[in-house]
Amino acid sequence: MKTIAKICALAAASLGLATSVQAQDTKTVIEAGYVLTQPGEGYQRNRSITIQDGRIVSVDRGFEDHPDTVRVINLRDAYIVPGLIDSHVHLSNEFSPTSRLKILSDSDVDAALDGAAHAKKTLLAGFTTVQDVGGPNEAIFSLRDAIRAGKLPGPRIRASGRGITPSGGHGDANGFSPALTEIFTGPNACNGADDCRRAVRETIRSGADVIKITATGGVLSNTKAGLEQQFFDDEIAAIVETAAMMGRKVTAHAHGKGGIEAALRNGVQSIEHGTYLDDETIALFREQGGTLVPTVLAGVTVTGWTDQAWLPAPSREKAAIVGPLMLDMLRRAKDGGVNIAFGTDTGVSKHGDNAEEFVLMIEAGFTPEEAIRAATIVAAEHVEMAGDIGTLEAGKFADMVVLRRDPLEDITALKSIRLVIKNGEEFRP
Ligand SMILES: [Zn+2]
Repeated sequence: MKTIAKICALAAASLGLATSVQAQDTKTVIEAGYVLTQPGEGYQRNRSITIQDGRIVSVDRGFEDHPDTVRVINLRDAYIVPGLIDSHVHLSNEFSPTSRLKILSDSDVDAALDGAAHAKKTLLAGFTTVQDVGGPNEAIFSLRDAIRAGKLPGPRIRASGRGITPSGGHGDANGFSPALTEIFTGPNACNGADDCRRAVRETIRSGADVIKITATGGVLSNTKAGLEQQFFDDEIAAIVETAAMMGRKVTAHAHGKGGIEAALRNGVQSIEHGTYLDDETIALFREQGGTLVPTVLAGVTVTGWTDQAWLPAPSREKAAIVGPLMLDMLRRAKDGGVNIAFGTDTGVSKHGDNAEEFVLMIEAGFTPEEAIRAATIVAAEHVEMAGDIGTLEAGKFADMVVLRRDPLEDITALKSIRLVIKNGEEFRP
């Protein structure tokens, strides 16, 4: 097989074709001056990272001479971190004054193409893996598969599709005329434990890697339905049990304390947002081993929209309440020892600005290395890919971000990207 691949690569090279076969078959050595192979353990100095077939073969001390057949990339003066992971994005959408109009005018194909453009920005911002937790099913699953097949540049995607919601809940169609609501509501809306089992099964059938539920109300749904628990306990338990039978984890959008606690109590593994968590909630997180995805960037973004006439009044009211609470929520969760995975809710904020969340994490009391760890090792476990991503070691995907400055000195260095490497392939911002 190896020989055939080589022949193909040579043939392709002689035809001037840059193929993935050629890219993957070449052995590449990255000469890394400062590399955070295991975020949390400080830099390793002067390491040679050997890459082949998209994966790391070895990380060795020092630099040596290599035969001409090996491609060497000299990054002796650069800072390298593992490819970043954003656990909460919406690639097929970006909020704007015309968002609600786009729901009426755009097809799922339009959403997929928007997603492709956003995916490229995300990758060039250093995020080589994302978890997409809400968007039209066909659009996001096709985008995921196209990127995986190497047809488009973008991060590796793990996707939930349209989240499971109670009728009239945060994830349902809200604020349209009855006729349009009828059209825009979907099989993701469920009522009662049995119906919610159906919704989980259908979501998995359509291609979901993970189950996302809206356990409480949310800010950007056009409804005065509050921010508290919306699914009953028995509905959540049925969703978790059904998902587990089919090998899927459940993550819950939740702001209100009652809704966060109901989710954790009924076996949901992670909470998105977590706005109203208190000491009791923090204790429950620790008891259940739950993970928090804080998305403070979304809070800051919507706080800036509270005087914008284009945002429907119910959303403006909820944004004014929730937005300003999120930074302090993160501070308390961190002090309380909650396991925290990096996530931004990008799509509320602009795609490609994901690293802004790091700045907010520092404000909430993280050290730069703790924040990077949340976006690598912790997020990799959270998205169930710890065997493939999150650290730089033999056997893992060759995903890394090459920075001009030291992010442990100044976290904004994560916005000063020289090169992104995903599956051993190079992308220059
Ligand atoms: Zn979200």
